[in-house]
Amino acid sequence: MQTALADFIRDTPEGREADAILRKCVHCGFCTATCPTYLLLGDENDGPRGRIYLMKQALEGQEITDKTRLHLDRCLTCRACETTCPSGVQYGRLLDIGRKLVEEKTARPAWERVKRRALAAVLPRRFLFAALLALGRLARPFLPERLAEKVPASTPAAGAWPAPRHARKMLALAGCVQPALSPGINAAAARVLDRIGISLLEAKGAGCCGALRFHIGYQKEGLADMRALIDRWWPMIERGGVEAIVMTASGCGVVVKEYAHLLRHDPAYAGKAEKISAMTRDISEVIDAEHARLEPLPVKKGGRSAFHPPCTLQHGQNVKGVTERVLARAGFEMTPVPDSHLCCGSAGTYSIQQPELSGQLRRNKLSALASGAPEEILSANIGCLAHLQSGTGLPVRHWIVALEERLS
Ligand code: SF4
Ligand code: SF4
Repeated sequence: MQTALADFIRDTPEGREADAILRKCVHCGFCTATCPTYLLLGDENDGPRGRIYLMKQALEGQEITDKTRLHLDRCLTCRACETTCPSGVQYGRLLDIGRKLVEEKTARPAWERVKRRALAAVLPRRFLFAALLALGRLARPFLPERLAEKVPASTPAAGAWPAPRHARKMLALAGCVQPALSPGINAAAARVLDRIGISLLEAKGAGCCGALRFHIGYQKEGLADMRALIDRWWPMIERGGVEAIVMTASGCGVVVKEYAHLLRHDPAYAGKAEKISAMTRDISEVIDAEHARLEPLPVKKGGRSAFHPPCTLQHGQNVKGVTERVLARAGFEMTPVPDSHLCCGSAGTYSIQQPELSGQLRRNKLSALASGAPEEILSANIGCLAHLQSGTGLPVRHWIVALEERLS
């Protein structure tokens, strides 16, 4: 694609990156076939190729309108287009640049600004989120249905966290939303890794990975969250003999794996970010690599399960088929799921900001997941788990919790 970026951005790092990405796109449109919003709305501007065009126009200095912002807002950042693209267009990175520009050059209605500010203030703060969740539970009977469905009735107990006893150590992200909604996920991962011979540790005070604020128009604040997390982790990485960072939420994993890129221009953090990204693994990658230590354990057979691979795992991290392999080895009977490349509609705060589209995507996803008559749904990201659970009576759990239950 020919480009002529405007003076205000051409010679900036963002301008150079956007230009290189745009030039790779050959307009073939293969990506539209796997774009969930294009499939629902049938509008070229609600597909990747149209959005790339809109961002190109914005970067070339043409007027940026509310319509431009609407089409970018409707994008799930699922990055299905990226794994489909034969030319290697890094759509996700272009979108980060495009969204920042659109945010700067347009004014959102007051209610939207308030909503975004509230989400950016509450979600990354674990204790604030936990307190609001507790309040939400008390108020649940009086809330409108759409809001009530977002408040889970209870939080399952975490269970014991094994005391560190192994020479091999890995670090887990305590996180922000996950400990309040499902504290058992990291605890289950710790128990499985303990059986393998690895002690899983959490750094005290380590909170949000930065993804939440970075992706809702607060990039500067999101980058600050990333630096704060690096500061918490760094002493354990430098002196603690930690061999890897294990992610049990693929939405956080995809961002931490990109710290090296996102902080590359920050001389104080670039080196640390590079090391942290290189050390980061999804929990499925860790268990898969260590499977020989797990396989001799007695495994209970159980019912049928359907797996939903989050977009942040299969498209964002390009980790495909690994969890499915781990579960199959452990004796899980997996049911077939059509269109497993499509997003469930959770997508960070998308379900709050685009409820209609998100609701339709969830209905489609749940119907695909239920088509093989499973007894439970498994996934790998807290956002997807909560979103799917609020639309079905089937139990929805993190796969590591289900695996740990079978091993126990
Ligand atoms: S598949 Fe890739 S090259 Fe083709 S239109 Fe989409 S982004 Fe551009
Ligand atoms: S990230 Fe997902 S929703 Fe956005 S354009 Fe790509 S495929 Fe479509």
